[in-house]
Amino acid sequence: MSGFDVDLFVIGAGSGGVRAARIAAGYGAKVMIAEEFRVGGTCVIRGCIPKKLMVYASRFADDFADAAGFGWTVPEPTFNWQKLVSGKEAEISRLSAIYRTNLDKAGVSIVDSRAEVIGPNTIRLKADGREISAKYILVSTGGTPVLEPSIPGLEHTITSNEVFDLPHLPKRMLIIGGGYIAVEFASVFARLSTKVTLTVRSENVLRGFDEDMRGHIRDGLIHAGVDLKAVTLPTRIDRRPDGLAVTLSDGSVLDVDQVMVATGRVPHTKGLGLDTAGVELDAAGAVKVNNFSKTNIDSIYAVGDVTNRVNLTPVAIREGHAFADTMFGNKEWCVDYANIATAVFTTPELGTVGLTEQQARDQFDCVDIYAASFRPLKATLSGRQEKTSMKVIVDGLTDRVLGVHIVGDHAGELAQVLGIVVKMGGRKSDFDDTMAVHPTSAEELVTMRTRTARYEREAIGEEGPGAAVVAAD
Ligand SMILES: Cc1cc2nc3c(=O)[nH]c(=O)nc-3n(C[C@H](O)[C@H](O)[C@H](O)COP(=O)(O)OP(=O)(O)OC[C@H]3O[C@@H](n4cnc5c(N)ncnc54)[C@H](O)[C@@H]3O)c2cc1C
Repeated sequence: MSGFDVDLFVIGAGSGGVRAARIAAGYGAKVMIAEEFRVGGTCVIRGCIPKKLMVYASRFADDFADAAGFGWTVPEPTFNWQKLVSGKEAEISRLSAIYRTNLDKAGVSIVDSRAEVIGPNTIRLKADGREISAKYILVSTGGTPVLEPSIPGLEHTITSNEVFDLPHLPKRMLIIGGGYIAVEFASVFARLSTKVTLTVRSENVLRGFDEDMRGHIRDGLIHAGVDLKAVTLPTRIDRRPDGLAVTLSDGSVLDVDQVMVATGRVPHTKGLGLDTAGVELDAAGAVKVNNFSKTNIDSIYAVGDVTNRVNLTPVAIREGHAFADTMFGNKEWCVDYANIATAVFTTPELGTVGLTEQQARDQFDCVDIYAASFRPLKATLSGRQEKTSMKVIVDGLTDRVLGVHIVGDHAGELAQVLGIVVKMGGRKSDFDDTMAVHPTSAEELVTMRTRTARYEREAIGEEGPGAAVVAAD
């Protein structure tokens, strides 16, 4: 033992912190973890898991509507928000308890308290003022919703922190933001019968995703009844006896019951005392780390959203695992951030891995696109107009698949499997050589023989790079 109270003190029992604590303790390290809210962190308590439960709840609306086309007579369905909220609460409490048990079993001491750094090797627990010395400190405090734009009346709004426990299902709701959290909740609430307005600062939702897929998701939201107001921002919010009046940048006034701000998240470093230890933060307040999640201070490391690298649960978990293996298990490795598959759980959902078309065209000399858009078999009898869209992006010179993007049923599940293929360096010819599973929607991926477009970059002449040449087939 090191002469410190513990070998490792972990601040924050979320995805990254819990994994790091368990693995480090498994190697025999003396580990303490502090949590100021609920063990499990954002993902379990107020992120991925409760959100997905709500996505499932919302999709029954479509299933009831579709059933008639298949011969069913369904009585007018009714929905009970409170029942969903209490079911969700039971499930996240169960998961949180499992996290606790697993930490206990691994021999990690859990303290239910806020923890703050007061030196390179010292932590103070807010609950009882105790000071703990640690050979290493791991900061895994996650992120927190940002309240923007800064307008009068912002105090009347909620964020994703509160949305899961609303006492009533809002009849009319404004969601501000165009990122994945904003569109997912717009899709959920619209299906639960809330009249949803979505204001987006730019022309379209989901900046950073493939352009065509952004269009499909936008169309899906509009189809679900979301009033999408692009290039629009709220300018003030006033409380009225019957709800909230939101003035928008186009001068109109929107009457709603609830306003949810989903304009992004910031690293949770405020008041953490990192400055007292001399830990460097970037302009966004994220802890600056190297590939091994080490800060500029030798004894302090950070993983997960607080470092603002790729803000997803599996990434935080893997960063925590790599940290623990490297520091306590004598197995040095760091996380590979290339080709992370991910999903947006709107309905229909988006599954994606690898480069977008634009990224591929910026990085490669010759890019081939294979795309298909079709009405899935299920929609033919249900009468649903919904389309499934798939796009495979290929390096035209090596045949390597650079990216796959899907909007449709189970696109998230497909992205997980396609993630393996892209990670392995799969080629378009491997897709072509693969026998189809029939009848499925996914078979389209292995039967797309005809190129939709080829983009070739002109040779760079003396005047600099020329414009891309499009050779549509
Ligand atoms: C609405 C929503 C939906 C999401 N959906 C998905 C999804 O579908 N898929 C996906 O991969 N990711 C999703 N995410 C992102 C995912 O939740 C995060 O990337 C992940 O939780 C990050 O893990 P972490 O360990 O960095 O931090 P967190 O899981 O946020 O854990 C940090 C913990 O630290 C605690 N803490 C903070 N400060 C202190 C302190 N000073 N002392 C003690 N404790 C402290 C916090 O209470 C928290 O429990 C979603 C996020 C949100 C908000």
